Amino acid sequence: MTKGRCMKCQKEVEMKDPKEVVMKNGMKAAKGSCPKCDTKVFRILGKK
Ligand SMILES: [Zn+2]
Repeated sequence: MTKGRCMKCQKEVEMKDPKEVVMKNGMKAAKGSCPKCDTKVFRILGKK
């Protein structure tokens, strides 16, 4: 499971449908949505 901070709920939530992405600066991040409010949840995983 991947957790991220939901901006709307203002707390850590378990991401729904998390996907790993690589940002322009080479940082890895996980993208998903909040199971409660469907807001996009984003978490930076750090440099590999
Ligand atoms: Zn939420």
